[in-house]
Amino acid sequence: MKRDDVLQMLMPRGWSAQQVDVGIRANFCCEYCERDLISSVNDYDAWQVDHILPRTDERESLWNLALSCKTCNFLKRHSIPTDPIDPKSDRSHAISVVRELINERRERKQAQVDFLKKQFRCVEWTKMRAAIIAEIDSNR
Ligand SMILES: [Zn+2]
Repeated sequence: MKRDDVLQMLMPRGWSAQQVDVGIRANFCCEYCERDLISSVNDYDAWQVDHILPRTDERESLWNLALSCKTCNFLKRHSIPTDPIDPKSDRSHAISVVRELINERRERKQAQVDFLKKQFRCVEWTKMRAAIIAEIDSNR
């Protein structure tokens, strides 16, 4: 199958040529966490295109676009990694630099989630929650 065949297949379904190229290059997986973005509706709806370098003259160049899941794109936001990325450099190096940044942030966020899980998924919390809900209901 050639690129034009894929374009003819996907463009009538609302894909732009740029989305097709980004998707094919990434094998339809998030380039930062490798999440398969065509394995389910939830995964497909997480599809986003990240700008590796958010502020560059080459902003919309294919080099600068990375297939990303919503979570990775949110964790990255508009940040530029402290390890400078040269837009003329090897793209896989740029992806690995961004992946490292995202992974650091993912670990910090996971610690927050673990804290919440520990606080609100224990037996004591279940009892306190029932009391709080009864209190909320009595105040209606
Ligand atoms: Zn991801």
